[in-house]
Amino acid sequence: MKITLRNVITPALTFFILLFTNCLASAGTASPINTIIEKAQTDNGATWAVSYTLDTPSERLVFVRNPDSSRVTRWLPINSDIEIVYNIAEQKEVVRSKTGKLISNVSFSLTPTYKHLGKDYAPFSPFSDGGNAFHSGRLFACANACTEEDNKWRLTLNVPSDEHIVLNGKVVKSSVSWSDNNDGRVVYVGKQQPIITDDVVALIDPGLPKSIKASLEEDIPNMMAFFSHSLNPLKGEKPMLFASYANVDDHSTQGGTLPNQIFMHWNRQDLNEQASNSNFVNQTLWFFAHEVAHFYQPGSTEGVSENEEQSWLHEGSADYFAAIAMNFLYEDTNSYVESRMTRAFESCTEGLAQTTLAHAYKNGQFNLYYSCGMIMHRAIDSVVQQKTFGEETLFTVWKRLQKAVHSGMPPGTATFLTLLEPYNAPELIKAINNATSDDAIKAIQGIETLYQLPE
Ligand SMILES: [Zn+2]
Repeated sequence: MKITLRNVITPALTFFILLFTNCLASAGTASPINTIIEKAQTDNGATWAVSYTLDTPSERLVFVRNPDSSRVTRWLPINSDIEIVYNIAEQKEVVRSKTGKLISNVSFSLTPTYKHLGKDYAPFSPFSDGGNAFHSGRLFACANACTEEDNKWRLTLNVPSDEHIVLNGKVVKSSVSWSDNNDGRVVYVGKQQPIITDDVVALIDPGLPKSIKASLEEDIPNMMAFFSHSLNPLKGEKPMLFASYANVDDHSTQGGTLPNQIFMHWNRQDLNEQASNSNFVNQTLWFFAHEVAHFYQPGSTEGVSENEEQSWLHEGSADYFAAIAMNFLYEDTNSYVESRMTRAFESCTEGLAQTTLAHAYKNGQFNLYYSCGMIMHRAIDSVVQQKTFGEETLFTVWKRLQKAVHSGMPPGTATFLTLLEPYNAPELIKAINNATSDDAIKAIQGIETLYQLPE
C-alpha cells in the first residue's frame, strides 16, 4: 500500500453540484400561471423582466426552487406594493402584497449577471458579447404553495428585434412560447448563431481563449464518441452545449447538465493567462469530461440516485468516468489523473472524519460525493474486471443499471448493489456498505479498503 498524503492539486476550478432530481415527469396539471420573460434594450443597456399572471388571484406566490434567498435582492418588484421576503421556517422566498391585497399580476426586474447558487443551476450565464443564457426552472412559480402536482409551466419569452432565441436547438426570432416541466432548461438569448455539428448544437462564447474554444470544438465530440461507445449512444434530438464567459473579478466556474443540455460558465478574469497553464488545461478537460459523462450516465434523466444522500452514485461515477476518458484520450494526462485519485482519497477520508456520506450534502460537504464516490467506483471497476478476466467493466454495470431502471427497478444504491452481487465479491460490497455507513471509523476503513482494492 502506498498513499501519499500531500496536497498536490490546488483546485482552481470548483466543481459544483448539479442535481439530478428524482422528480419524475408526471402528467402534470396545467399551471394556472402565465410566465412572461422579456429582454429589452434601453439606452442604459439590456434589461430583463419576468411577470406572472394568475388565472385566480392568490395571497402569495412561491417558487419551486429555493436554493437561497437571493431573489430578495436580485428580483426588484415593479409595483411598490409587492415584496419578496424569505420565510425562514419554510426556507422559501415568498412574493406577497405589503398591504395584504390578492395578487393577480406581478412583475420583477431581474439582475442578469452570474450568481452562483450552491445547490442549483445559475439563473443567468452571461456571454462576453452581450448574449445570455438563463435557466427556466428558476422562474417556475405557484400560487400559494407548490405541490408535486405542479409540474407544468407556461412560459413566453420576448426578445429585441436584433437578437434571437435558441430553444431546444432551434433558432427563433422575437417571441416564443413553450411548456416546461421538471428541472426546466437553459435558453439562449443574443446575437450569436449556434454552431451546428453532427454531434451538438453549440453556443460557444467568442471571447473565450482560443485554446478553450478549440478544446470545446474538438475534445467534447471526442469525449462524446468515447462515452457513446462505452455506455450507450444518445437517443433523440441533438444535445446542446453552452459555454459562456463573463470576464469579471471572480473565481467561479460552473458546469452542469440538464436533459439534452451541457453548460459551462467561467466567471473570472484570468482565462487568457490560465489557458497556457497545463494544470488548468487538465482541470478544464476533466471538467468537460465529467459533464459529458453525466450526459451518457444511463438513466440520468430518470434519476440515477434515489435521493441526495446517494449522490456518490452519479457524481462519483461521473468523476471516475472522466478519469477513464482522460486516460484513454490523452496519454500525457495519466499523472494528472493519478494525482487526482490520491487527492480524492485524501479529501474523502478527511471529510468522512467530520460527516457521514449520507449527510454530506446537508453539511455543506457535497464534494465528498465526488471524491469518495470516485474511489468507490474505481474499486468496483477493478473488482469487476478482475472477476471477469477483463470481459466486463464498470461501464457494463452502469449499462445494466440503465436497463434495470428502465424495466421498473427503483434508481439508487440498493438496485446498484444488487447488480454487483453476481460478481461474488463480498469484500467489495462490505466495504461499500461500510463507506456509506453512519459510523465514521467504519466509513474511513471502508474507503481505505476500497482505495487499496485495485492494487
Ligand atoms: Zn456532476
